[in-house]
Amino acid sequence: MTSIFQPAGRIADLGVSEILAITARAGALKREGRPVIILGTGEPDFDTPNHIKDAAIAAIRRGETKYTNLDGSPEMKRAIRDKFARENGLSFAQAEVTAGAGAKQMLYNAMMASLNDGDEVIIPTPCWTSYFDIVQIAGGVPVAVPCPGEAGFRLSAEALEAAITPRTKWLLLNSPSNPTGAAYAEEHYRPLLEVLRRHPHVWLMVDDMYEHIIYDDFRFVTPLALDPSLKDRCLTINGVSKAYAMTGWRLGYAGGPAELIAGMAVVQSQSTSCPCSVTQAASIAALDGPQEFLKDRRASFARRRDLVVDALNRIDGITCRRPEGAFYTYASCEGMLGRVSPDGTVLRNDRDFCAWLLEAANVAVVPGSAFGLSPYFRISYATSEAELTEAMSRIATACAQL
Ligand code: PMP
Repeated sequence: MTSIFQPAGRIADLGVSEILAITARAGALKREGRPVIILGTGEPDFDTPNHIKDAAIAAIRRGETKYTNLDGSPEMKRAIRDKFARENGLSFAQAEVTAGAGAKQMLYNAMMASLNDGDEVIIPTPCWTSYFDIVQIAGGVPVAVPCPGEAGFRLSAEALEAAITPRTKWLLLNSPSNPTGAAYAEEHYRPLLEVLRRHPHVWLMVDDMYEHIIYDDFRFVTPLALDPSLKDRCLTINGVSKAYAMTGWRLGYAGGPAELIAGMAVVQSQSTSCPCSVTQAASIAALDGPQEFLKDRRASFARRRDLVVDALNRIDGITCRRPEGAFYTYASCEGMLGRVSPDGTVLRNDRDFCAWLLEAANVAVVPGSAFGLSPYFRISYATSEAELTEAMSRIATACAQL
């Protein structure tokens, strides 16, 4: 029977993310008994620390199980303001911070609250897949600016300048980046901020989600701290998901101009209402609590990064940059294109390569096409060293057959 449902224009050409689709396919193979290793998901394999869980349990016992203030309880907002001041040198008033169900909701609220039909959002690519779709749902036009691997996957001042038009509303930056792990140091941000100063109609949205997952001697900095003159047109977004292994709790937060924050609250008031009360108690404990354990987790992620990058670079036809942060590598498979698998299939693009890796090596990775820059593939190394070692060995064996 054919469906009579016709999707709204704003979602007609959008699907659920390619990452979820690949993970679902790999999961189905696993259930059939295939020993599939999934390197697709973007969440830490660590558990949420006990002091955070305990705070949530205590909140339940105290009866904090009702609606809170719409975009965060006063205590939640206090913890967010303290965090921005302590870790980022940013000073926000209570009316300049907001909290919702994840950093994703912060992005969504901000785009819905600010974009009119046809407004443009400059998005350096490759980028997290949700950016394009959120902008599109909000009626905006995503403007992809390719940032090649040779330039460290970072946006240059020249490319930014060339992308700005009278319709540009936002520049959206993410450092460390999903999917590349590339990060902007102060010297990378400065020239971009100079361009923004020349274009006062362009606002800056910053996604600092992976702030705490950085390696070696990389120094994290958020753009507003470098140029406080942007305060009336900059939104800084963060969340507890990745740093504190809290992806399922759903809490994200943001700091920005009070009028924008109020607009975001309007959007939230007619969609999800307040973030979960118990989650807020847990998130306050995460932000206020001990941060030392992050150091051990960073060290563990750094070992996994090196394991994966070194193994990939040993494979003929694959090259991989060593990322500064996050838990992803974005490797080029250009040297694999045109090669033929034992069953006679020619690998024409990164989608073919990833499909073949799943069949031949039982390893699930995500093609660069999902993130807007090919021919690459993304590996999430937020899994055990034993599993990563096995996965890398399988990929090397499979590639040798081509
Ligand atoms: N930004 C980036 C760059 C991400 O990778 C993610 C999660 N994949 C998010 C934001 C959203 O995180 P959450 O909604 O869990 O806070």
